[in-house]
Amino acid sequence: MSALVLEDLTLRRGEKIIFEHVSSLFSTGEVHVLSGVNGAGKSSLLQALIGNPQYALSGGRIWLDDKEIQDWTPEKRAQHGLFAAFQSPCEIEGLTVANFLRTVLKFFPKHPLHKASATDFYKELYSLLEAVGLPKTFTARAVNVGFSGGEKKRFELLQLKFLRPQFALLDEIDSGLDAEARELVLQTVRELRPTTGFIIVSHNEDFAHRCEPTAMWRLENGRLSTM
Ligand code: ADP
Ligand code: MG
Repeated sequence: MSALVLEDLTLRRGEKIIFEHVSSLFSTGEVHVLSGVNGAGKSSLLQALIGNPQYALSGGRIWLDDKEIQDWTPEKRAQHGLFAAFQSPCEIEGLTVANFLRTVLKFFPKHPLHKASATDFYKELYSLLEAVGLPKTFTARAVNVGFSGGEKKRFELLQLKFLRPQFALLDEIDSGLDAEARELVLQTVRELRPTTGFIIVSHNEDFAHRCEPTAMWRLENGRLSTM
């Protein structure tokens, strides 16, 4: 079991406090749902956790088990098991889905496919594409370029299933999804839950309950509280 501990986190932007005194503990096997009005700071909190330099903390500490990680690069946090599915995933012209995932593997020496042959890699990739409802032709598509909103979310799910991180931060992954894709998210959460801890930002109460959350959190006026 692993723990992700947030200790008195504060993020200011100029004079404005985005959030302050945020403390919490998340463990693998748990699902935490985070809600709050638009602009409450939910995405900022997730971005700060994964180390996006545009969301550098003004104070506080983040622990991944016994390691203090708030000064780590996003790459190092990812290598140690932090994963984020973005609210608006970026498009990468000229980089195919297959090459993107093969490149990612180079940075994950413990991944079962780290040294896999092209055949084994593609076998897994095709199986994951099928599992998330994307056609095989996606292997040759540029990452997120021209993907519909739903396809972007399915590709985020594919990356999650591919990496099986210790902690997965899902930012409004359910918004704008059709019922079938929403089921796919729930199924993925259930599948990975034994070894992954989830922080899921969602506005949808029904979806939140169906995640069978360990706890529900609300970010309001810069403060995090349980519901
Ligand atoms: P939420 O995800 O809860 O809707 P955000 O974290 O996106 O909230 O936004 C929190 C606040 O931070 C808002 O006031 C928003 O305008 C501001 N903000 C978010 N991202 C940026 C950014 N990259 N640059 C400047 N301000 C930002
Ligand atoms: Mg947001």
